[in-house]
Amino acid sequence: MIQKKVKIVSNLQVVPEHFKMVLEAPEISQEAKPGQFLHIRIHEGLNPLLRRPFSIHRITSSQIEILYKIRGRGTEILSQHKSGELLDVIGPLGNGFPLPVTSNPKPVTSILAAGGVGVAPLAFLAEKLREIRNQKSKIKIIALLGAKTRDYILCEKEFKNFCEEIKVATEDGSWGFKGLVSDLLKKILTPNPKSETRIYAAGPILMLQEIKKIANMFKILAFGSLEENIACGLGGCWGCVVKTSQGYKRVCKEGPVFNLEEILWE
Ligand SMILES: Cc1cc2nc3c(=O)[nH]c(=O)nc-3n(C[C@H](O)[C@H](O)[C@H](O)COP(=O)(O)OP(=O)(O)OC[C@H]3O[C@@H](n4cnc5c(N)ncnc54)[C@H](O)[C@@H]3O)c2cc1C
Repeated sequence: MIQKKVKIVSNLQVVPEHFKMVLEAPEISQEAKPGQFLHIRIHEGLNPLLRRPFSIHRITSSQIEILYKIRGRGTEILSQHKSGELLDVIGPLGNGFPLPVTSNPKPVTSILAAGGVGVAPLAFLAEKLREIRNQKSKIKIIALLGAKTRDYILCEKEFKNFCEEIKVATEDGSWGFKGLVSDLLKKILTPNPKSETRIYAAGPILMLQEIKKIANMFKILAFGSLEENIACGLGGCWGCVVKTSQGYKRVCKEGPVFNLEEILWE
């Protein structure tokens, strides 16, 4: 884990209210794993005081991308930063997605289910899974991308490079399947005893809760990246805990990725 002031290479809008920021951060990118996050000090002032967490979206050997949606004051300020400016960043933080073992003789179908900007950590994961697949592992990668409307679909082109299959769900039916990404997931899942299926999900909490139910129904593993307000990001303040079957766990330290089976939502 490194804390550093890093240079903004670019910070551009990709779809309405969503931006992609590229940071020059070789020390962090070389350690990063899919599902981990950066804790970013939004600016030098005191408001907002707390850093904001963002998943690592893509990496190269020297750069890191984040993909973010404007939600409140912090992300609004973030979107106004220009290339060449410096940002104080801590990362990579947290535990990422468990990856399939290359020696597993059984074919593994990895279904990546993204709700909106939840696509951010899953793009890095898809690229990593493709790398594992290229080492002759029998992995099939399917991406399900959910968005409000066609105008909000993120990263379709990137996922086409990494996945065998890609399906889109829009809430208004303006592109692909009409409905939520969890409805689409339910529709495409078929029990197959000859292959192991794993779901990797990121998105709104209601979507993760629904995916937990679907995974239970089909008796398959589902890992989800959880979002909570994170203060210190280092496991010290216990401000971001979630209730699990093994007691309270910190989203910033034991997470943000959890086996959804263990999360006890009220
Ligand atoms: C691990 C992780 C990864 C994430 N990855 C992404 C991503 O890739 N892309 C993306 O768009 N979003 C991501 N998010 C969500 C993102 O962090 C929030 O959208 C962002 O923090 C919102 O900040 P804001 O100031 O714009 O919003 P606001 O809504 O203004 O801020 C959040 C609200 O909560 C309050 N708050 C913030 N932090 C705390 C805290 N620790 N304790 C108490 N109150 C607090 C603020 O004061 C404010 O009221 C991620 C979240 C987590 C936990």
